[in-house]
Amino acid sequence: MIKFDKITIIGVGLIGGSFAKGLKKAGLVEEVVGFGRSQSNLKKAVDLEVIDRFTDDIADAVSGSELVFLAVPLGVMADSFEAIKPHLAKNAIVTDAGSSKSSVVLSAQQALAEKFSCFVPGHPIAGKEQSGVEAADEALYVNHRVILTPIEQTNQTALTIVEEIWSLLGANVEQMAPQQHDEIFAATSHLPHLLAFGLVEMLHEHPELGNVFHYTAGGFKDFTRIASSDAEMWRDIAVYNSDAIVKWLKNYGVAIQQLAELVENKDAEALYNLFSEAKQARDEHILQIQQN
Ligand code: NAD
Repeated sequence: MIKFDKITIIGVGLIGGSFAKGLKKAGLVEEVVGFGRSQSNLKKAVDLEVIDRFTDDIADAVSGSELVFLAVPLGVMADSFEAIKPHLAKNAIVTDAGSSKSSVVLSAQQALAEKFSCFVPGHPIAGKEQSGVEAADEALYVNHRVILTPIEQTNQTALTIVEEIWSLLGANVEQMAPQQHDEIFAATSHLPHLLAFGLVEMLHEHPELGNVFHYTAGGFKDFTRIASSDAEMWRDIAVYNSDAIVKWLKNYGVAIQQLAELVENKDAEALYNLFSEAKQARDEHILQIQQN
């Protein structure tokens, strides 16, 4: 089994903190060093025993580290690759958790240059609407998918090691191309998050409804839970996966227009068929998840 003397977490929040906690709990690492934007957050991470120590010196954070895990917002990835590059040990592996992959791969290619092959792009499909190190959970990745999006230049040994780490954290690892990842998650994750933000904002701003939240029940709560997600993270996802997201927002716009026409025409049969088909698709999907 692999074991590391030193790993570095750049961005010790929900995702980076959960990764560190999981590795420490499994006894896979001697020392976890944190690097981030806020001293108070990093102090908290030490107090919570998520990391062993922190530093504001990137050379100290990265030198001699066998694994560098980037769990910062997407907008900070390019600068982070630039900052770590001069200090990377010869056989260091770099991996990340960014929610969009083409943009991260491109910035890693540009910043890491001749060291790019040590980078294994990744995205754990796990999270919650809370962010920050306080929400870190060593079991966050258990039974969740982690998508790795290696490209031709990715070093095979680095890829195998990153796969093994995620498996040891209890995750189910899959691979796909960065563009395919971005298209799929634009449709299944980014679109619903943007719809939830958009719906809450529209109703909240609507003068004729008054205090709309006073009259909400389970349906509204279920649909909008994810509108409590971190605004910085979702701003960056919208910006860095914009092409794929815009495509799916437009597709959804067409579907909403068609739905509005059916409602306007009081087309009971077509509405019934649409709702039945959607219900059946969702019920079958839930059943499949329960059986797996
Ligand atoms: P988070 O806010 O909990 O943690 C981000 C951390 O990055 C914070 O500790 C913050 O202080 C630090 N940070 C911010 N700017 C920085 C900078 N300039 N330099 C160094 N550190 C900086 O967010 P998170 O939920 O852990 O998300 C981290 C990454 O993981 C994002 O790229 C996100 O897209 C991805 N991701 C999030 C989820 C989720 O559900 N939360 C799931 C999968 C992937």
